[in-house]
Amino acid sequence: MRLLLVEDDHALAESLGQRLRAEGFAVDIAGNGVDAEHLGREEAYDVAVLDLGLPKKSGVEVLGSWRAAGRDFPVLVLTARDAWQDKIAAFKLGADDYVTKPFHDEEVIVRLQALIRRAHGRARPVIESHGLVLDEDDQSLRLPDGTQTQLTAMEYRLLHYFMLNEGKVLSKSRLAEHLYEYDDERDSNVIEVYINRLRQLIGRERITTRRGQGYVYGGPA
Ligand code: CA
Repeated sequence: MRLLLVEDDHALAESLGQRLRAEGFAVDIAGNGVDAEHLGREEAYDVAVLDLGLPKKSGVEVLGSWRAAGRDFPVLVLTARDAWQDKIAAFKLGADDYVTKPFHDEEVIVRLQALIRRAHGRARPVIESHGLVLDEDDQSLRLPDGTQTQLTAMEYRLLHYFMLNEGKVLSKSRLAEHLYEYDDERDSNVIEVYINRLRQLIGRERITTRRGQGYVYGGPA
């Protein structure tokens, strides 16, 4: 899952960004409203955390601009304790949830996970699919024989994205857009390497190749 974190408090952005990366998100950070507006309109985010008090352009304006451009990823806004008018303005423009500062990172994380689940029509924090059980909380995978495996960050990001998009053809470029951060080098050969690693783990037949199109995750044939 690719996440845009918009926060002008540099220390807060860095520490929250680290926590989010540890939870399996690919995180881009914007420190002002203009950069945030641009990134949110141009890049393929799955979710965003948006501070409302920003330099150059307010969070409310940024959100309005994203929505006007048809960007419909879930947005969690960060607000000051007494800023109830901002909160209402943000919801009217299409915010999905909010957290009041100061907050515990854990609360932001569980709210983001819930937003992503709901965006994919799911209610539970585990994804079960054809005998595989992927746990969002500790990024572990249970195989059909009951073996529990701890996934690496990239394995988790990739499998999570496949499982949320079961049956869809996912091109390498789409996978790269949703799995890598802005500054990462997007080498599509590396994605192939990770896909082969996942196939070894869960069985080759679960991720099929559509020549010239991409990959499809599904159950064993
Ligand atoms: Ca701020």
